[in-house]
Amino acid sequence: MIIVTKKGVTQDELDHIRERVESLGLRTHVSQGEHRTVIGCVGDEERLQHASLLALPGVEAVHAVMRPYKLASAEFVAERTRIPLGGAEVGGDEVVVIAGPCSVEGRDMLQRTARAIGEQGARALRGGAFKPRTSPYSFRGLGEEGLKMLADVRSETGLPIVTEVMDTRQVDLVASYADVLQIGARNMQNYSLLTEVGRLRRPVLLKRGMSATVEDLLLAAEYVMSQGNPNVILCERGIRTFGTATRNTFDLAAIPVLKKETHLPVIADPSHAGGRRDLVAPLSYAAVAAGADGLIVEVHPDPASATSDGEQSLDFAEFASLMETLRPFVEAAGRVLAATR
Ligand code: PEP
Ligand code: MN
Repeated sequence: MIIVTKKGVTQDELDHIRERVESLGLRTHVSQGEHRTVIGCVGDEERLQHASLLALPGVEAVHAVMRPYKLASAEFVAERTRIPLGGAEVGGDEVVVIAGPCSVEGRDMLQRTARAIGEQGARALRGGAFKPRTSPYSFRGLGEEGLKMLADVRSETGLPIVTEVMDTRQVDLVASYADVLQIGARNMQNYSLLTEVGRLRRPVLLKRGMSATVEDLLLAAEYVMSQGNPNVILCERGIRTFGTATRNTFDLAAIPVLKKETHLPVIADPSHAGGRRDLVAPLSYAAVAAGADGLIVEVHPDPASATSDGEQSLDFAEFASLMETLRPFVEAAGRVLAATR
């Protein structure tokens, strides 16, 4: 349920409305926009049936939220969510680029990659220390050693770090290093993990599951948010279809759909979507044209020798060229490409 308040509503009126709703056992969530203030109510809406909310001073209108997701729904808030990252804001005017290797393989490669992407205007460094691999015999990451390397490189370059947490048992450890906690596609419906990261306030980068609908993704975000963590960034990274020309099928339409359905920032991962280096640039342009708030791109000093996802990783020159050629698309979309730091 959403309560839209009158223009010029007073703090006392707001408090009073909230008290009434909370006294019936529901939770309230106040969202103050430039033009209006809305109070979202979550819980058993039946209980509000006879609460005569419309009669309370300051109430303009009361609407039911028809969507199964509430906190994540665009109608629930007065303004879009903006999440600060590396001196920029994801979900604001800027298109924010996050880049780095699929896996942290060592200190030297991480340092070189961070410097190269930072110089080109990337605002955050990605890199997996715990890697979900399809085969248990593939390289599965350096674990805490990798997290330490990420933290060292952050101190050197100032770039915040985005890294994956795969398991509830690792949440505290990963959160003690990461600026953004990545939940991978394979874990999008790991509800224990979503609940655990929801208890923190650290931004969560939630990647769409390979067979997840847009609604499934938004309900996964709702899990995190319903625990109290409003800082969720959604990521379209391609889904499984019958197509075999690309690693996954990039669901471009999901981007504008998500931007309508939710106030949360939406970014795209052209690396995993296409699975091919030559597709990273065109998919990035398309994502930005479709309204993406940012990109997460795999970059490696020597993709041919990468321990994971080399075939979809850009080298430094290719990343520099991507950043340069992306700019006109960003501008055509009425956005700004985060400037070089
Ligand atoms: C990754 O970002 O390297 C990754 C494993 O992504 P996804 O979970 O989207 O497959
Ligand atoms: Mn990868």
